[in-house]
Amino acid sequence: MTIENLASRDKKYLWHPLTQHKLKKTPLAIVSAKGALLWDEDGNEYIDGIASWYTVMYGHCNEFIMTAMTRQMGKLDFVMFSGLTHEPAIELSEKLMGLLPKKQAKLFFNDNGSTAIEAAIKMALQYYHNNGEKRDTLIAFEDGFHGDTFGAMSASGLSSYNGPFEDFLLKVVRIPTPQEDNLKEVKDKLLWIIRKNECAAFIFEPLVQGAAGMKFHSAKGLDTLIKICQENDILCIADEVMTGFGKTGKNFASEHLVHEPDIICLSKALTAGMFPLSITSCSQTVFDRFLSDDVEKGFFHSHTFSAHPMGCAAAIAGIDLLNSPEILERRRYIEQAHKNFAVLMENHEKITEVRSLGVILAIDLNIKTERYGNLRDILYKFFIERGVLLRPLGNTIYVLPPFVITNNQLHKIYDTISEVLETI
Ligand SMILES: *Cc1c(COP(=O)(O)O)cnc(C)c1O
Repeated sequence: MTIENLASRDKKYLWHPLTQHKLKKTPLAIVSAKGALLWDEDGNEYIDGIASWYTVMYGHCNEFIMTAMTRQMGKLDFVMFSGLTHEPAIELSEKLMGLLPKKQAKLFFNDNGSTAIEAAIKMALQYYHNNGEKRDTLIAFEDGFHGDTFGAMSASGLSSYNGPFEDFLLKVVRIPTPQEDNLKEVKDKLLWIIRKNECAAFIFEPLVQGAAGMKFHSAKGLDTLIKICQENDILCIADEVMTGFGKTGKNFASEHLVHEPDIICLSKALTAGMFPLSITSCSQTVFDRFLSDDVEKGFFHSHTFSAHPMGCAAAIAGIDLLNSPEILERRRYIEQAHKNFAVLMENHEKITEVRSLGVILAIDLNIKTERYGNLRDILYKFFIERGVLLRPLGNTIYVLPPFVITNNQLHKIYDTISEVLETI
């Protein structure tokens, strides 16, 4: 009898996310990981160039974080967070409050990015409801991505995912992202939307739209839009699920802004990629709107695994690392290396734009393609065969490595990108 490998056993019962199983080949079976490296079941090695969807920023199987989690597991595994509390959640709240923009005053726990957004949207709607107002409209950017549950999906503008559900979504009105040359037009559109609708919240990925292909917009422009919303008593929700924890050069992308959001959503790198957990933080003003002698004015929203102690322990350890001298040195090195590589590549005939911010690097290719078209598969395969894991989005190749990636590993990614440009 032959022993089946993992890749073929996977086929029997598993249904993968974002996959058309009729067209897709067998997935790569990863058996172990360390730092920026992954190993498959045949012993092949890959550099994780996107930190497993921008989560494991301190590297896979990070000893410091694993030790904190192991210690926590031996002491208190899990208790529900309704009516009970625990030290990991309290310590995390204290740590995070020292790091988040000043306006943030309260943390609400969830268990993934989409549910952090879901809680933020419900908070915003109930914020007005508690005041006797019915506001039914959200404002969001074109091509934003906020997750796959219904509220989050409604806010997302990437229709390739939302097609079958569009008739069932919340009311969302969209504006383009502010660029150098369109700010007046975007401002006018926003003001017109505010006049014509009962707007509850403006939800956005600050500075970088991840799933859209690491598209950037102007911090100054976003600041202006936030200011307009806040002057019109509309809550501003920053989805920092991707940008949070050092991706854009600062701890949070919101720190590039003068006008602070009222609500911030965090997940992904929050737990260093070690555990599913998320947080929706809000200002004191938002929190106070739920205080009442009337029980129903409270926020009746909960997930079983809210504030899981294992996730909190990982998050505390992650925050301790984020601004440690070693990680700061790596953050700065990657940022500079990206800038140098961008300068080298900017005039390449196959490239329309190279951009970088913090540890994010994105390269738009001068080749037209569908979002899930052939080009993406060709690129993916080319990289994988050379031991580099990257997941191009449409015709955008992006790199968002773990902070702990070594210089050689990072330069191998750059070299592989230069090489692929000579073959396509
Ligand atoms: C990944 C992501 C989400 C959704 O998070 P999940 O944990 O996958 O549900 C929401 N917003 C942004 C910006 C993201 O990158």
